[in-house]
Amino acid sequence: MGQALAVSYVRVVGVERVTPRTARVAFVGDALAQVLEDRPDQQMKLCFPRPGQALPRLPEPDADDTYGMRWYEAYLAIPEAERPLMRSFTVRGHDRAAGVMTVDFVLHGDDGPAARFGREARVGDVLGMVGPSSLYARPLPAADWLLLAGDEAALPALATLLESLPAGTRALVRAEVADAAEERPLPSAAEVAVRWVHRDRGGSLLDAVRAARLPEGAGAAWLAGEAGTVRALRRHLVEERGMDRGAVQFTGYWRRSLTQDDAPTAEDLAWAKEQAKEQAKEQAGEQAGE
Ligand SMILES: Cc1cc2nc3c(=O)[nH]c(=O)nc-3n(C[C@H](O)[C@H](O)[C@H](O)COP(=O)(O)OP(=O)(O)OC[C@H]3O[C@@H](n4cnc5c(N)ncnc54)[C@H](O)[C@@H]3O)c2cc1C
Repeated sequence: MGQALAVSYVRVVGVERVTPRTARVAFVGDALAQVLEDRPDQQMKLCFPRPGQALPRLPEPDADDTYGMRWYEAYLAIPEAERPLMRSFTVRGHDRAAGVMTVDFVLHGDDGPAARFGREARVGDVLGMVGPSSLYARPLPAADWLLLAGDEAALPALATLLESLPAGTRALVRAEVADAAEERPLPSAAEVAVRWVHRDRGGSLLDAVRAARLPEGAGAAWLAGEAGTVRALRRHLVEERGMDRGAVQFTGYWRRSLTQDDAPTAEDLAWAKEQAKEQAKEQAGEQAGE
């Protein structure tokens, strides 16, 4: 029997602007103590109420959820007019003793429900949350050094990954942000070299990674951010730098001019297939090594 993906309510207890374009929202919730784990890069989905709703209506999956997807069937079964708007997010922090989870919202300027919520969130607001779940946990590949590259949306995950690295690990970070005011501390016990790239000065993540001098030895990469950029980064690392395909983890976090509700493009589908192939290989390798 599988483990059901948790669906729960979370309530805002604090809002802070950590940079001009990042709202850090603190939430409490009855399920947090059970669902949050002590691991980095915990991904979940937040459910936002439809206009006119005080609370988002939540999917109610049954208990036996072998593949962790029954909640999605239950979500689709909600009549569209009442179905919550759903967006992917990362647990930025978790204070187990206080029972508080923090989430960083990029205030990207376009009027999506998540960015709007981040801009206007007030103490007492309630959202739904699906997950996170260790079903979707993907540990970083073992390597002599790591390259972590991403934009503002990827920084919460990237920051938790850096916080989890032990002393003695070597990591290079390339982070693209709107301008210098968006930089933030990225603490780690590892030996980390961070290079910030500013869009207002014409910088781009792809150029920064192209220009990076990668260390000797076997490296691994973690890439997240705008989907087209992530694809170009992966192509560069695999095809031009000769990195092993399996050593490059990549996830498109958002798509230019498309919302998360828009259907996948043909290119999205092709890359999702490629990603699934790499993940299957990873899992087969893990099982063979068990
Ligand atoms: C696994 C995962 C984890 C994520 N973690 C986080 C996180 O912790 N914090 C976070 O802020 N985001 C995170 N994201 C990205 C977030 O889900 C998307 O940015 C999402 O589209 C935001 O929803 P929205 O309602 O604001 O905009 P949508 O309604 O989805 O889109 C509206 C418009 O805004 C544009 N847009 C969307 N996101 C961005 C962006 N980041 N920058 C510029 N333009 C954008 C779209 O192109 C579209 O034109 C994560 C994504 C994934 C897949």
